[in-house]
Amino acid sequence: MNTAAAGQRFTLKVPDPPPPLVIDTDHNNNTNNNSTSVAIIGAGPSGLLTACLLKKQNPTLDVKVFEMRDRPTSFYGSFPVVLNKRGLTALQHLDAAAAPPTRNNTTGNGAEASTMLEKLRYCGRIVDGIEILSQDKVVAMADTYGICIMRDQLVGLLLEAADAFAIPIYWQHKLLALDLDHRSASFTQQPYHDAETPAVENNTKTKTLTVSVTQILIGSDGNYSRVRRECEKHKRLTVQDWSWGISMRYLLASDPTTTTTTNSTTQDTTPPPAHPIDGGIHYVLGSDAYVCQQPDGDWSMSLSLNEHSDDFLLSNDPTPDNVAKLKAFCHTVSHSFTNGLLSDTTGNTITTTDEVYASFFRNRVFNGSIIKCSTLAPTDWIALIGDAAHAVAPFTGEGVNSALESARILSTVMTEDNRQHNHSRTTTHEYDMLRRPDAHALCAYALRNRKLVAGTPAQKCTNTFGTIVLGLLKKLGWVTAVPQDLMLGAKAQEYDQPIPYTQLMALDHAQRWCLDPVGTCCFYTICCTCCGRCN
Ligand SMILES: Cc1cc2nc3c(=O)[nH]c(=O)nc-3n(C[C@H](O)[C@H](O)[C@H](O)COP(=O)(O)OP(=O)(O)OC[C@H]3O[C@@H](n4cnc5c(N)ncnc54)[C@H](O)[C@@H]3O)c2cc1C
Repeated sequence: MNTAAAGQRFTLKVPDPPPPLVIDTDHNNNTNNNSTSVAIIGAGPSGLLTACLLKKQNPTLDVKVFEMRDRPTSFYGSFPVVLNKRGLTALQHLDAAAAPPTRNNTTGNGAEASTMLEKLRYCGRIVDGIEILSQDKVVAMADTYGICIMRDQLVGLLLEAADAFAIPIYWQHKLLALDLDHRSASFTQQPYHDAETPAVENNTKTKTLTVSVTQILIGSDGNYSRVRRECEKHKRLTVQDWSWGISMRYLLASDPTTTTTTNSTTQDTTPPPAHPIDGGIHYVLGSDAYVCQQPDGDWSMSLSLNEHSDDFLLSNDPTPDNVAKLKAFCHTVSHSFTNGLLSDTTGNTITTTDEVYASFFRNRVFNGSIIKCSTLAPTDWIALIGDAAHAVAPFTGEGVNSALESARILSTVMTEDNRQHNHSRTTTHEYDMLRRPDAHALCAYALRNRKLVAGTPAQKCTNTFGTIVLGLLKKLGWVTAVPQDLMLGAKAQEYDQPIPYTQLMALDHAQRWCLDPVGTCCFYTICCTCCGRCN
């Protein structure tokens, strides 16, 4: 059982702002002198890692990062992600050779930890295993190798490294448009606001500015990437996209083993959980929910919502009626987890905390797209990485890991290209050649998983059949590993480097090409003959 590490919440000293850029005026008519060799759009995990790796390899390189949001001051919120072998390997490139100096102006991030891996371990929570449950019964389990960390914690650790490299980050700079012919990018400079942080009334005119890019512009601006959309608008690439197939909404509860107070309004007489709950294990509750313990000890139950879900699940109003419906819904998803996690234990009495349920209605609903780009190098000076290039759905478990890997690959290509040929024009195409097959294989994997979560009963049944047969073959020693074992699984540790997605998808195809048709046949002949209700 894991124990929560101390001090996962940390603060960073704010560095001096970077040299100001010239705002466009009628007078300079966009002919200012703003320029950079490398412009990175988006200070998420992939953008920050690329910036740090480039600076590590070449401290004199002119790299500027542009981010539409404010500089974060708290590094905890958002959602939990699991860093696996792929993501951890990419992050460890920061440690090799010239690591950034250890800073002493940081509190609570394990300042004594010198390597990125040590910091991640300190801030996050080790994931030892994953269990798949149906009706509160374990149907599959596997040992894993990973660290669960909040997405914003990861950004905080990378920001700390970026500050140590003195990388200029222009916060509140939102990319508006690209001039593909003149190799420049234009931004608005304004306080960030979204649905949760409404705009402050302000009569000042929005400032815009233009920056010319001499070497490369890197689109690391996430799922709804403006860089990608600008290139698509100018027909430099084509994009296929699919919705995740579900929306996700989180229910957060304090760790019941440490909770001492209760504000319950109702008495629940149901017995304690039959299934023991362990913070080192992540739980997949069929296609309905995902449960894990966050680094700070709170438990998160993320519910999958789809077009058939009841309206109350999308409501923002914690009315007593909605709270009661949610409670009932959680019991149908998992009696065991609902009793074990979403309850406070007071002596021998289990009482249900309505506030836990009420908070669900205040949490945002997440949704997004699975993205496949015809190229990751829409021009000879623009490259796409991370979610901008190959976004997948959260249930794929590879979003942040593939984003970090792309950052590592692009920075390596750029460094080698500079060193060997010194002609940067082919850099983006080299990167595309190296990364696109993998990005497309990742998309195929994401679409395959989408069928498990949001597919038809026949598709879900087919997959379960294959998983059970492959599990048996593994027990018999006839199959050494399935792709999942080589991603999040502990088996990934046996390899020096992460296995490319192309190889993983080839393995998946080889293992399932005959199992899948048999599974489908079984579904139609056995299940449908049996009751036929689920199709
Ligand atoms: C609910 C949820 C759960 C997830 N769970 C997992 C998980 O368990 N495992 C996993 O591997 N992955 C998970 N992911 C995916 C993971 O978070 C992403 O794959 C990862 O954050 C991608 O990193 P990125 O740097 O490419 O993009 P992002 O993290 O999206 O960062 C993009 C940055 O660009 C900025 N930006 C956007 N537009 C502009 C603009 N026009 N101008 C300037 N800046 C801009 C944004 O503000 C942001 O800071 C999850 C995602 C969500 C939403």
